[in-house]
Order: sequence, then structure tokens, then C-alpha cells
Amino acid sequence: MKDEQMILDRDTAYKKKESLFPEFLNVETINQCNLNCVMCPIDKMTRARGTMSMELYEKIIEECRNYTNVIKNFSLFMQGEPLLDNLLERRIKIAKEAGIPNIQIATNGTLLTPSRAKKLIDSGLDSIIISLEGISKNVHEKVRVGSKYEKIITNLETLISIRNDLGLAKPEITVRMLAFKENEPQREIFIDHWKTKVEEVIINPLHNWGGAEPFGRKVSYANFKCDYLWKSMVILIDGRVPLCCLDYDGVYTLGNVYDESIYNIWHGEKYKIYRKKYKNNQIELCTHCNWIPGSIITHIRKGRVIYDKYKNSKKKCLSGQVKDICLLWTRK
Ligand code: SF4
Ligand code: SF4
Repeated sequence: MKDEQMILDRDTAYKKKESLFPEFLNVETINQCNLNCVMCPIDKMTRARGTMSMELYEKIIEECRNYTNVIKNFSLFMQGEPLLDNLLERRIKIAKEAGIPNIQIATNGTLLTPSRAKKLIDSGLDSIIISLEGISKNVHEKVRVGSKYEKIITNLETLISIRNDLGLAKPEITVRMLAFKENEPQREIFIDHWKTKVEEVIINPLHNWGGAEPFGRKVSYANFKCDYLWKSMVILIDGRVPLCCLDYDGVYTLGNVYDESIYNIWHGEKYKIYRKKYKNNQIELCTHCNWIPGSIITHIRKGRVIYDKYKNSKKKCLSGQVKDICLLWTRK
């Protein structure tokens, strides 16, 4: 009965039918990075490193141009630092010219020099997320190993001023912090500092990468409501489609965009099988996963609080009973 209830819970958690085409696409243009952040499994990745060929990228864009009314978000990153890819701005321009909406990157900010900031603005990028792990050098550099906090802040402030001086609204800028125990005392100052300078401030929980890392909430699988397989798709540099963005090593392969269209993969046999397996609790990665896609602790937009789960959960976290929010700092 418990298992039946679990499946029922999950059945109501997502749409009964997948979208016509993935609404959220993550295209991994490069899978290399210049940092070694403590919560990132990139150092464990066994698949080949490199960049996506323009041939494959253009194939993706050619198909996506037919679904611009379905696509809600087109992210050019997955496992790696997108600014290491010298073709990035060209890729953004091509996507933009194809009419693809909400083109986004997330960056560690280390390579966001003034000339790169200008190129990104010129490319038509819609939004950029910059990862900051607090308001102090000490905490940020402890998490983002290999980075220089002051340099990133200078880069970010330069991006803001170049864009504002040009009188442009885009790219919208988000600063994103992960909820570590160490940066919790800086939370209010972080929000107050950035909420008037950038469009969005987001605090995300940590997660365990489907069990690969010892972080995150202790959630019951039965409470999980993941619609990833019904709405979102990742394409790796070699064209393979993994289960989701937590399948960082591409252990599950649901198709390859080199060989098939995105549409055919999305509506193909493998996706059908994995959607069914998900409902029946049979995907190993999902059984360990504690990430709910889109999960956010705090969301401030244009100075307004859109969402703040932190206040209700603070007592539980500080008392050590980690339930809703992860504020764990544990690494093997
Ligand atoms: S910057 Fe991103 S990809 Fe690079 S190590 Fe950190 S979390 Fe991983
Ligand atoms: S691993 Fe997690 S995020 Fe990925 S499909 Fe499974 S439950 Fe969803």
C-alpha cells in the first residue's frame, strides 16, 4: 500500500504527457573547468573532455528553431565553465538569430573580463547566473576552490556597469549562492548587498548528485516530485542525452542527437521506458537523488521577495535537524 501511494504521489507530480518538445534544454558546449569546487563531481567525471562541435551545435539549433514557442529556457552549460569555450558568443548569436528564447549561461565569473562581458552583451545573451558563495573571500574561496573572490566581484561589477552604461536590460544578471553552513550567517547581508544591483538573487540548496556526493536534504523518495523527464533535456558535448543534469557522467543514455532528432529521442522508446521506470521507482540515480528541479530556498527578483523558504526552516536547520533546507558541510 505504501508503494502504491508512492507511485500515486509521483503520478500527480508531473503532467500525464510529456511536452511536445523539451521545454528546458541544457546544451553542454564544454565540459572542462578551471575550478574545483567542493560540491562538484567534475573531478570524478570519466567521460572525454572537450567542446561540442559547431556541426552538432548547428544541428541542434536547426531543430530548435521549429519549437521556439515550446522552449522556455535554453541553457548553454552543464558540467563545466562555459566561458572557457571561445565559441560561446558565436553559439549564443546563432541561437538568438534562430529565435530561441531565454538563452542563459551560468558561470563561476573568473573569466568574465571586461572584453568578455562586452562580447556577451553584444551576443544577445538573455541571462547570466554568477555563482558567489557569500560575501567574504574566506567562505567563497573555501567552496570555489581555485577562484579569487575580489577578481570575480570586479568582473561582476564591470559587467553591470558596461550593460547599464549601454542602457540595456539584458543580459539579466542573477547572483546565486548555495546554502552552506559557513555562509548562513552572511545570508541577509548577501541579499541586501546584491538585491538592488542585479535582477535576481537566488539561494539554492545543495544536493547529492544522485548519491555521488554527501550533500543535501534528507528527503523521503516518496515526497519527491520530479518532472524532469517530462519537460527537460540535456545534450552532452558528444550529442548523448543523459537522464538529467545530475547524470554528470552520462551513465544513462537516452539517445544521441548526432544520430537522431531531438524530437524523435524525446518521443522515442528509451524516454518512454525511463518515464515508466521513474514512476515505478526503478531508476537507481533517482532513488538516491535529493534534488527537486527548480528547487529554490530564496528568490528575490528586482528587489522583491518572490519566495523565501528559509525563514520557516531556519529553526530546524540550526538545531541540526536538517529537513527542508540543507546547510550541511560534510565532505568525505
Ligand atoms: S565552477 Fe561549476 S563546473 Fe567548475 S568546479 Fe565549480 S561547480 Fe563544477
Ligand atoms: S536524478 Fe533527480 S533530478 Fe534527475 S530525473 Fe531523477 S529525480 Fe529527477
